[in-house]
Amino acid sequence: MQAWTQPEIPVVAGPARRLRLYDTASAGLVEVNPADGAAARIYVCGITPYDATHMGHAATYVTFDLINRLWRDAGHDVNYTQNITDVDDPLLERATATGVDWTELAQSEIQLFRDDMTALRVVPPQNYVGVVESIDLVIGAIEDLQRAGAVYDVDGDLYFAVKADPRFGGVSGYDAETMRALFAERGGDPDRAGKQDPLDSLLWRAERPGEPAWESPFGRGRPGWHVECSAIALKYLGMTFDVQGGGSDLIFPHHEMSASGAEVATGEHPFARAYVHQAMVGLDGEKMSKSKGNLVLVSKERLGGTDPMAIRLVLLAHHYRTDWFWTETDLLAAQERLDIWRGAIGRGSGPDGAAVVDAVRAALTNDLDAAAALAAVDLWAESNGDDTAAPALVAQAVDALLGVEL
Ligand code: ZN
Repeated sequence: MQAWTQPEIPVVAGPARRLRLYDTASAGLVEVNPADGAAARIYVCGITPYDATHMGHAATYVTFDLINRLWRDAGHDVNYTQNITDVDDPLLERATATGVDWTELAQSEIQLFRDDMTALRVVPPQNYVGVVESIDLVIGAIEDLQRAGAVYDVDGDLYFAVKADPRFGGVSGYDAETMRALFAERGGDPDRAGKQDPLDSLLWRAERPGEPAWESPFGRGRPGWHVECSAIALKYLGMTFDVQGGGSDLIFPHHEMSASGAEVATGEHPFARAYVHQAMVGLDGEKMSKSKGNLVLVSKERLGGTDPMAIRLVLLAHHYRTDWFWTETDLLAAQERLDIWRGAIGRGSGPDGAAVVDAVRAALTNDLDAAAALAAVDLWAESNGDDTAAPALVAQAVDALLGVEL
């Protein structure tokens, strides 16, 4: 599927730094740097296109955009793959509830997402892959799991047997009770009769009346969610890629299951070297979610005249591993910061440009401490100096590394 427009990324002078990120699976900081000259490989789970992009999504894609930009800054090509879950229960339910054809709903929401990502200057993935265009790939992944003896049938639906994976639980590190509670909360069916283990997840859902379905060796039906990402990641990145990313609500079951399925299917480990998760963004004391209806939408903000770069600065002001709440106060502060920065790069000179660029690199490569990077630029913008090359250099670094066009 077509992604969106690639922003210009200036090349910034000065030495890059090595990137360290917090890995959920090992519960610690790890270096995530491909070998010199090798491409970095990252998979970030994409949207289910049934509603518009809210600030929680935007925070996720901007966080992984920083990683993409830091690898590029270090001279790596980046193979960034992102899926679109363009057939799934929430999409079909929304289409039925609103009387819109599910494929049209998906197409219009994907286009809105593209426009939001373009406005936020998120570097697009090389491989932007829909599930509907990948049905054969998913069928192949299920067949690989069958050969590994990890698939069984419940009334025509196929399930992945988690007992086939001795490492199951290793991505989230959650205990059995937590896994079961989250599985029930996030689309799983722990109580379905006939399952071997409550945590076994759906691979192939046999055709139901009124639902879309595709031919397969297992009969007509449609894929389950987790195996889609295993299949797409294996095809476009291969095993043991650098970073698996997404929101922290994907740690379990989604990332646990997609890693487990890929590892059982291939007999190799690990699926990804690091599992990196963006914390949740809330509003008025509650998590922002479609079910609660408390969404701040990127499209609504930008169509209302908010500068997308101010939105990006609000997102960057919060560390990606800390839950936070969207406020108008933060948005006003970000707009003010943007104005100050724009004023500062319009000057004839400023304090030492190379020093602030190095401070931005140091902050970002330290587990994406974007707030510290912003503070370094603030300090530069608020001070005077005689480095005539500094304004242009700082503008380039802010653009290339933080994705903020001044
Ligand atoms: Zn995924």
